[in-house]
Amino acid sequence: MKVRTRFAPSPTGYLHVGGARTALFCYLFTRRMGGEFILRVEDTDRERSTQESTDAILNGMAWLGLTPDEGPYFQSERTDHYKAAVQQLLDRGLAYRCYCSPEELESMRELQMARGVKPRYDGRYRDFHGEPPAGVDPVIRFRNPQSGAVAWDDAVKGPVEVANEELDDLVIARSDGSPTYNLTVVVDDIQMGITHVIRGDDHVSNTPRQINIYRALEAQVPVFAHLPMILGDDGARLSKRHGAISVMQYRDNGYLPDALLNYLVRLGWSHGDQEVFSREEMVSMFRLEDVNRAPSSFNTEKLNWINHHYIQNQPAEEVAQELDWHLQHMYGDLTNGPPPVTVVRLLRERAETLQEMAGQADFLYREFEQYEEKAAGKQLKPAAREPLQRLREQLETLEDWEPESLQQTIQGVVDALGVGFGKVGQPLRVSLTGRGWGPGNDQVMAALGRDVTLGRLDRALAFIEARPD
Ligand code: GLU
Repeated sequence: MKVRTRFAPSPTGYLHVGGARTALFCYLFTRRMGGEFILRVEDTDRERSTQESTDAILNGMAWLGLTPDEGPYFQSERTDHYKAAVQQLLDRGLAYRCYCSPEELESMRELQMARGVKPRYDGRYRDFHGEPPAGVDPVIRFRNPQSGAVAWDDAVKGPVEVANEELDDLVIARSDGSPTYNLTVVVDDIQMGITHVIRGDDHVSNTPRQINIYRALEAQVPVFAHLPMILGDDGARLSKRHGAISVMQYRDNGYLPDALLNYLVRLGWSHGDQEVFSREEMVSMFRLEDVNRAPSSFNTEKLNWINHHYIQNQPAEEVAQELDWHLQHMYGDLTNGPPPVTVVRLLRERAETLQEMAGQADFLYREFEQYEEKAAGKQLKPAAREPLQRLREQLETLEDWEPESLQQTIQGVVDALGVGFGKVGQPLRVSLTGRGWGPGNDQVMAALGRDVTLGRLDRALAFIEARPD
């Protein structure tokens, strides 16, 4: 049987780290098994679901490259299927109408709490054959078995067993006829041929109820795999405060999609001591058996380390594709500066994020406002006047504006003056970039072009002239 998994987000917020990790694990498992990965938007809660959130989830998945083989399907377009399933259960006596009013349910709850028992529906309409109370639109409840147990062998947690006594008769359709989550999810998973349900640990309490619905609908129960929670560095459940932010926010903050995926795969899964995995490696190595049972902790430092690793090692053209967005965001029109791939080659050594890299590229796209005070104080002194002047003269007529000949020009000035390389190179760097560190001067000048380079040298010379000392 072909493996089929699904990622089934509710569009009530953005795609956050936990959701993206679930999607990634579904995707990897499916790819490794040669199966199909389905995307289903669970938008039956009309009040909380928004188009904006659906878009955010789809954009996040696309940015991460987690492309589904099928879908997105929308639950809001599948109401007929749910209604048919509810009717089927009613017809077969496996579901029933319950006329309890909210007040009745509330007083049932209060009484149970007062007696110290777990609040639950007491099944008072389970075998009701009398005259229904007037003016109450009934809900439909599933007739859960009252004895025995539900057991499954969770692909992550191992064997789990829950006594049916623990489960009350859950509502499968509200009084307005709209179906509830536990019904829709089972109907969809059956009809979409899902073989493996991989989802967050927070759904584990729904699973025994859902298995009972599968049985009532006489369908094959899929394999369940519940992924452990993700905690913040402080051991509390991951939340916004820890950076459980939207996947697209990570894009805005300068992370590469492959770096984020690599980081996410290690949240709850491991393969020996390996930390860096290409997409192909993730696919070939991923097994549900290797998913940890214990929760994992989110660690921003590690994410930054991995991001830096990808910035340095991914092909420059690929990094540039992402960097382009950041550069445009910061500088608008990029036509008066070098192509983004040049920026990657110049600045990839130092930057942890693309946002940082884009910020460091300011001198390539616009005139910097002022020199870094310390660097200018140290390097743009009267002693730098002659080296800079000589350089300017040579550069003005240099024929071949390429790193190699630019480097030779600098070397020529160093030799002619009989000074150390730094006496020329350092003032030049401050002149070109406005600061005391940066990539090689030859590369920078090649990227800036002749006119800008000469303009910056003039500016530095004027600065030296104007110095008070
Ligand atoms: N729609 C559910 C959620 O977003 C997931 C349902 C499932 O995976 O079974 O939490």
